[in-house]
Amino acid sequence: MNFELSQTQLDFKSSLSEFVKREISPHARDLEHSGEYPEKIVAGLKQLGLFGITVPVDFGGLGLDSVSLAIVFEEISKGWMGAAGLIGTHSVACEMISNFGTLAQKESWLEKLAAGTYRSCLALTEPGAGSDLQGISTRGEIYNDEVVITGTKTWITNARRSELIPVLLKTDPNATPRHRGMSIVIVPRDTPGLTISRDLGKLGYKGPETCEIVLDGCRVPVDNILGGEPGRGMIQALSALQLGRINVAARGIGISQSALDKAIEYASQREAFGKPINQFQAVQCKLADMAISIQASRLLTYWAACEYDKSREAFLDRTDSSSEPGQVPSHKKYRADMHTAMAKILSSETALVSSLEAMRIHGAYGYSTELEIERLYRDAPLLAIGEGTNDILRLVIAKGLTGK
Ligand SMILES: Cc1cc2nc3c(=O)[nH]c(=O)nc-3n(C[C@H](O)[C@H](O)[C@H](O)COP(=O)(O)OP(=O)(O)OC[C@H]3O[C@@H](n4cnc5c(N)ncnc54)[C@H](O)[C@@H]3O)c2cc1C
Repeated sequence: MNFELSQTQLDFKSSLSEFVKREISPHARDLEHSGEYPEKIVAGLKQLGLFGITVPVDFGGLGLDSVSLAIVFEEISKGWMGAAGLIGTHSVACEMISNFGTLAQKESWLEKLAAGTYRSCLALTEPGAGSDLQGISTRGEIYNDEVVITGTKTWITNARRSELIPVLLKTDPNATPRHRGMSIVIVPRDTPGLTISRDLGKLGYKGPETCEIVLDGCRVPVDNILGGEPGRGMIQALSALQLGRINVAARGIGISQSALDKAIEYASQREAFGKPINQFQAVQCKLADMAISIQASRLLTYWAACEYDKSREAFLDRTDSSSEPGQVPSHKKYRADMHTAMAKILSSETALVSSLEAMRIHGAYGYSTELEIERLYRDAPLLAIGEGTNDILRLVIAKGLTGK
């Protein structure tokens, strides 16, 4: 058992940390408060190749492992979690196309996505269904060589900036089990009938817009059905969400570490009753508890990332037919659902607690919009909701434990 990052990962982490200190941290507060779109940060992320973190090198990506992906999201979130959101669901979409796309789909899209020339997102949630994705009502009716799509998607981060929008929909609403009638269709944003109808107001996670999308009779070639066949969309989405959970868990580590670093610094400077507040045991215990939970989250996240890489490798090397629609039980052997769910839950709950504890240590200044602590506190709750709420993920873990 080796708890050390490789030298390559350490060098990568260090160059990312420099980038974040130079290009993100100093601007985050102003960009967040002004609502200005972080174009310069997007350009910096492109330059570093971070729109293609796990995209295979053959398709123009960095072809990195999932621990490296976690390092990216952790480092960026130390500076600003909103900036991590610029490449969050984009990375999940790339992963889905890399793992499940036909060769023609990979050749058409991956290189542009990896370069950031094309951007993407993930359109799963609807006004009437979030956790219960099999209860969505967006329809994709197949007529000859076209899919005609009608429905509404909501809370779709980056939709406004995405050239390609992967939409989860029902191609056969009467299928049993329901997931066999679900597909992912890659919809170009300029498809007639597609409207980004509004941006949704948010407590935090500013930077990327989170939007509602209306699809009104959008006609898309059947060749845009991910993997070339209908009926696999739910499996494809759930599989890619594993990487989404690693990225959310890593964002939690970034927020928590930033909260701890700021709390340590403040507690060494702020004096009360004639001495720095870091000499009070009540404050010391808060710092110690934060450090314990952060390190536990980090180790669990890196472990989940390694487990995910192993399962993905086995899936890509498989010789059986377990990716066929309906073969969910055997398909699950290629998944790290439980591992990634554990990491996401612990890390997001740690971010909620750490940002609050850092605020307490900062006293009134923690509540001020002039410091960064209040932003960490506003950004953290999303991590418990997105990529599967923590309650839903507890059910995933329980299922894995009991086999039910
Ligand atoms: C800022 C932001 C950005 C987002 N970005 C995206 C995006 O890019 N793409 C996208 O598709 N979605 C996105 N989402 C949506 C997000 O994925 C959903 O909010 C999430 O999946 C939960 O769905 P819901 O909000 O409909 O809650 P619901 O499913 O309505 O759940 C409400 C509550 O009920 C609980 N609950 C539901 N079912 C069960 C059950 N069986 N057992 C126990 N408890 C249950 C939930 O845990 C939750 O506490 C975003 C959300 C936010 C806030």
